[in-house]
Amino acid sequence: MQNYLDKIWNDCLSDLEDTISAVGLDLWIKKIKPINIEDDTLMFIAPTEMVRDTVIRGYTKQIIDSITKNFKLSKFDFVLEANKDAYINEHKLLEQNKDSLPRAITNEEIPENPFNPRYTFSNFVVGTTNRVIYAATRAVAENPGSRFNPLFIYGGVGLGKTHLLHAIGNYIWEAKKGQIKIVYVSSETFANDLIDILRSGRDKGTIEFRKKYRMADVLLVDDIQFIANKKAVQEEFFHTFNDLYQAGKQIILASDRPPKELSELEERLTSRFASGLVQDIQKPDFETRVMIINKKIELEGYNFDEKIIPKLAEKLEKFNIREIEGVLNKLDLFAKLHGYLIVDYDVMSEVLSKSHELDESVGRVVTEVKIIDAICNKFNIKRDDLFGKKRNKELVEPRQICIYLMWKKLDIPLSAISKIFNRDHTTAIHARDKVIELMKENEDIKKIIDELEDVIVH
Ligand code: ADP
Ligand code: MG
Repeated sequence: MQNYLDKIWNDCLSDLEDTISAVGLDLWIKKIKPINIEDDTLMFIAPTEMVRDTVIRGYTKQIIDSITKNFKLSKFDFVLEANKDAYINEHKLLEQNKDSLPRAITNEEIPENPFNPRYTFSNFVVGTTNRVIYAATRAVAENPGSRFNPLFIYGGVGLGKTHLLHAIGNYIWEAKKGQIKIVYVSSETFANDLIDILRSGRDKGTIEFRKKYRMADVLLVDDIQFIANKKAVQEEFFHTFNDLYQAGKQIILASDRPPKELSELEERLTSRFASGLVQDIQKPDFETRVMIINKKIELEGYNFDEKIIPKLAEKLEKFNIREIEGVLNKLDLFAKLHGYLIVDYDVMSEVLSKSHELDESVGRVVTEVKIIDAICNKFNIKRDDLFGKKRNKELVEPRQICIYLMWKKLDIPLSAISKIFNRDHTTAIHARDKVIELMKENEDIKKIIDELEDVIVH
């Protein structure tokens, strides 16, 4: 029994590697061990209450997913290490034999969904920078082969290309179980397959290779840029592509750059790639970052003070989504390790002030005086007026920009900034949001603010 539990739990752990960070696994998940199955509940031994509670708080969903898949069990619970012996005696665990084991799930019974369960459309946050590509991938998933063929997605690392390919895969997998064959391949796998097959003899090998890829109804190729310098792969891919395309099969490609910049790729391939829809995916803007942060907090079960989210989103301006996930994880971990129940303003300042990658201006001291001086110079107004009560436009806008820049550049909360201006908190919130809004609508204002930022960090 114990062997059985351990063996299947190992399968769960490999799945969990995809959904939980390495640190989370080491610190918490690997500390718990399965001990028994009671009805539909998998029982674990937890060394301490802290481990038990953290696992429940932070990882319930992931564990349920993996034990549902591997054990066919829908619940789990804990026995504390201190009560382990009593539990074993009570349940006579040592006497159980293999015949009473629950059904083991084999791969033959349920074909494995090869797609990452977290990379779904519903987990994908849609904002201005990825709305079009989201709509296109969604359309393709709903009606493969009928529109946008091929669909070519490009953009920098960590912006969601792989996520979207898996979302298409997951969607079709669920909707069309068994009826549609989806082949997902990173182009490295594609190349490795080819090399393997060529080794087994060119003719025979090529036939095998073609069989594998050309039975696809939907072909998803990730990081296609990697085949750029592999002539033999290009050759084979060209044929695969044409066969599938002519048979009306859906092809989706992801790359770090647009087709025309895949310079080492043969012209006949790049022009084929460009013949459908070519769509980029960009770094998230402020609003999208806010939504992404909120979504990740929800998915991971993190506990964050919602008041810090806008500030965090602003600080992570230059970050891609993978990096944003990294920072959230770091904040959560820091809070847990130090016994804080929530990631609040203090935790954020403490962690972020140590992260040099966060702000190129780290090391240069930005002070409120610098910001105020820069604003007064730029708009040619007096300090007293900046802080005064007059509400004409010439003063209101600089005041709002000043509040925004203090919020962005100084490690103090908006509530403290509102006090500097002798105004209430909501006024400061309004000022900040107004400026964020203005920068989106008005290129000139954005330029002015960028220049001001340059001035104050130098
Ligand atoms: P790429 O393939 O473009 O390098 P990934 O698809 O691997 O990027 O995305 C990196 C991480 O960011 C993944 O964990 C992914 O789930 C997450 N991610 C990317 N875009 C979004 C989004 N719009 N909403 C939620 N998570 C996202
Ligand atoms: Mg990727």
